[in-house]
Amino acid sequence: MRKIGLLGGMSWESTAEYYRLLNEGVRAALGGLHSARLVLASVDFAEVERLQTEARWDEAGALLAAEACGLEAAGAELVLLCTNTMHKVAGTVAAALGVPLLHLGDATAEAVTAAGVSTVGLLGTAFTMEQGFYRGRLASHGLTVLVPGADDRALVHGVIYDELCVGVVRDTSRDAVVAVARRLIDRGAQGLVLGCTELELLVGPGSLAEVPLFPTTRLHVEAALRVALAT
Ligand code: GLU
Repeated sequence: MRKIGLLGGMSWESTAEYYRLLNEGVRAALGGLHSARLVLASVDFAEVERLQTEARWDEAGALLAAEACGLEAAGAELVLLCTNTMHKVAGTVAAALGVPLLHLGDATAEAVTAAGVSTVGLLGTAFTMEQGFYRGRLASHGLTVLVPGADDRALVHGVIYDELCVGVVRDTSRDAVVAVARRLIDRGAQGLVLGCTELELLVGPGSLAEVPLFPTTRLHVEAALRVALAT
């Protein structure tokens, strides 16, 4: 089993999910007392969020690249950047590493394609929905990506930062996000990418059953397990 490096804390609410799902996956695959071999670097999200809002992406990239190198020095054989948004600087992080960075957009696109879906709705932070770094990565796999209108984007962004990243899960917000998703379905989305690692803490098939959901934390974990457990 290869040792997985988690670059997390963005937010730790979803990083805790990565930890749990990786360990559950190893137990399901290997049984008994087996658990995931991993190392974790967990940043202070307040610092990262300030760099995001001030558009200091180069500094954010340097910060995360340094943390990733620490994971490699600690024995990580592959690295997961546990946030869709910070894949904006995935190139900087990957370039600093001598081991693979498993790109979340690729893991997601591969699952979408395998499900036979070609047009997806994308929910995530404003950075993820509005900028090209993530949509472009999905599109590079041949997918058509639909994003919500401006008001809906602001709503989803607010739910992520003001609620989910601080551990607040509200039924009213679930209803509001599901309504945003349904508007994307009405526009032709055949599936929905929960393109923020906290969104699956709020929305699941129980709240939206019309189309397949692609929860990025779970998909990233599944892709990592395939690599880590490959013989
Ligand atoms: N975890 C979120 C994501 O997947 C948002 C937090 C962040 O900005 O990193 O995009």
